[in-house]
Amino acid sequence: MTDELKPHRYHPSYMHMGDCSVCGNLADDPIHAFPAPSPSNMTRLSEAKIAELRADVHGALQDSAYLAGAKAGWNAAQAADPNAAYAKLMASHDGYLKPLIEARRIVVREGGKS
Ligand SMILES: [Zn+2]
Repeated sequence: MTDELKPHRYHPSYMHMGDCSVCGNLADDPIHAFPAPSPSNMTRLSEAKIAELRADVHGALQDSAYLAGAKAGWNAAQAADPNAAYAKLMASHDGYLKPLIEARRIVVREGGKS
């Protein structure tokens, strides 16, 4: 498998303000071998609709993560040694709060500046 992207059809990502969801480039980037939809046939999304879609996607991802965790917990409980399985499960995500802690540190440090 190569890291180099092949020409492809532009596929707008609503989560990324219309940047291509495949390559992240704008619609008129030469990598898009097929013409982008013209403004006449393209659905223009309002900022409110984009925010609504983002919130829906965010909620769905949280629900998905919750259900995956519930399933992993259920599986751990069925193991021969549930405590060891649970400890292994928790260890597999050790440090998961690091990005949140780092973001909070930056916000607290930069928060007073404007
Ligand atoms: Zn692309």
